[in-house]
Amino acid sequence: MNWITKALRFGEKIKKVIKKRASKEEIANSDWTSCCKGPILKKDLEDNLWVCPSCNKHHRLNPRQRFDVLFGKNNYEILKTPIPKDDPLNWNDSKPYVDRLKIARKKTGMDCSMMVVKSTINNINITAIASDFDFMGASIEAAEGEAFLYASQHAIENQHPLLVVTSGGGMRMQASMISLSQMPRTTLAINELKKNNLPYIVLLTDPTAGGITASYAMLGDIHLAEPGALIAFAGARVIQGTVREELPEGFQKSEYVEKTGFVDLIVERKDLKEKIGKLLSILLKKNSSINSLLNETSEDSKKLTKVAS
Ligand SMILES: [Zn+2]
Repeated sequence: MNWITKALRFGEKIKKVIKKRASKEEIANSDWTSCCKGPILKKDLEDNLWVCPSCNKHHRLNPRQRFDVLFGKNNYEILKTPIPKDDPLNWNDSKPYVDRLKIARKKTGMDCSMMVVKSTINNINITAIASDFDFMGASIEAAEGEAFLYASQHAIENQHPLLVVTSGGGMRMQASMISLSQMPRTTLAINELKKNNLPYIVLLTDPTAGGITASYAMLGDIHLAEPGALIAFAGARVIQGTVREELPEGFQKSEYVEKTGFVDLIVERKDLKEKIGKLLSILLKKNSSINSLLNETSEDSKKLTKVAS
């Protein structure tokens, strides 16, 4: 046996000993995920609303998980939103855009990255939107613009407040100007809500960035945020490279953004349902609720009343 054969056999043995790295799909289908203390059972995380019991990291939620947390398991109706023709620009980069859409749809079971539902919170009827980060980073294109407009229209027709749970990297570059034009379209839809005196509440979750931050995510009557969420326009490294200065600690995290005035209140996931319900009660029956809440001594109620005022 010459040394080459020996080396090859040794290589085979090593391969058997070192376990193959799990694929992304295997990780997604596993019962386990990881956080600060290493592996954690997804079931345990789910029982704690997908918040790590050790470090309080608020893990990302898909729209169904988000609505289960906000409204109760399956206690909402998913509304079918219009889907425009795919890929009118016939875009092709390292992969055709139509193929990317196919993969995203298979992965998430959604037609576009936004889901619109109607439900109730604190006995108040509400229309709500949430995005799925697994659908091309929850980026925005014509279909998402249509979903947003549909939700706004539905809210106006039924005199509902609109809640938007934001996440996503921004506008979807594969659709160029068609994506960018969703920024003024969503802004116009929000203006219509405001003309109708309907509350528009934004809940910023990790991560909210780019054109999403530059449009509908920053136009709320009230901006709530989950703890530790990345809320940004450009990335920190780009900014640091431009201003050539050390950025402050926690830059672009909810807590920092709250200090700079872009977030009204940071709310733990377990408290979202109750606080959004209270805020809506205050906004919809403003005077009577504010008076009764002012009489309450709890710091929490005073804070919520201040936010809604
Ligand atoms: Zn953790």
